[in-house]
Amino acid sequence: METTHTIEEVRLIVRSARAEGKTIGFVPTMGYLHRGHISLVEESKKLSGFQVMSIFVNKIQFNDPKDFSNYPRDLERDLAIAREAGVDLVFIPNDDEMYRDQRTSVDVEILTDHLCGAHRPGHFRGVFTVVSKLFNIVLPDVAVFGQKDIQQAVGLEKMVADLNFPLKIVIAPTMREDDGLAMSSRNKHLGAGERQRALCIHRALGRAAEMIASGERSASKIEKAVGAVLAEGSPDKIDYASVVRYGDLQPADGIRQKSVLAVAAFFGSTRLIDNMIIDERDGEFACMY
Ligand code: AMP
Repeated sequence: METTHTIEEVRLIVRSARAEGKTIGFVPTMGYLHRGHISLVEESKKLSGFQVMSIFVNKIQFNDPKDFSNYPRDLERDLAIAREAGVDLVFIPNDDEMYRDQRTSVDVEILTDHLCGAHRPGHFRGVFTVVSKLFNIVLPDVAVFGQKDIQQAVGLEKMVADLNFPLKIVIAPTMREDDGLAMSSRNKHLGAGERQRALCIHRALGRAAEMIASGERSASKIEKAVGAVLAEGSPDKIDYASVVRYGDLQPADGIRQKSVLAVAAFFGSTRLIDNMIIDERDGEFACMY
């Protein structure tokens, strides 16, 4: 496995992999790797011959400076995990390499109006901007993102379509701990009691899936039931528990098409997000979470 801090070297290494006839897979991360990140690499390996991962805690996507400074970091451990996972090249830029007097940014309208977009001003602009830059640096054929960050993934699908990036976006399922908690680098900040309480998120998704399986189609009834299960875990704050249409991430009054149930809640000072995709197949709705 090779590692580099420079854009120039990424370009050289990727070019020579391409010259060997390999297609390029890409998994952008902010590090502190867990099994969720590795599952993206596994997916990418099925679809491409040379695996690039970036590790960059992207300051411009943090609307809260404390969240940025507290973001967990452990590069040595990350590199060992990436090597073990079969990554070929890790790109670890510093702020200076990525942002020198940057004046350009990328936004995706409408899709960031609700959910995290409404609660984290500037967050998605930071995400879409850094991912655009990374795509132009790595020039991958395929880039894999997690369903866990559904608004990010759907926004990136739209960005790639709108701006004609010549690559395929793949969205991979959310990896969970045995008790259902979605894996996240931020879980490290949860105290034992908070972590236990946070399991209500997974239970709430399960409750919604049961309702949908038994024919419930009213978004407000599902949101109310989800709110009640979340309340059992006494979250310190609920940012949202909402049903939105998958295509534009606008609020849905009922489940009539591919939709998303998304949740964001604080346990202590840790903000957790999770979601379920509700997909229509032959008039039936299947829940994936
Ligand atoms: P992050 O390092 O948190 O920015 O995440 C990097 C990538 O890993 C993003 O595409 C995330 O959606 C994805 N990811 C984070 N957590 C999970 C998870 N539990 N399962 C699958 N993918 C995940």
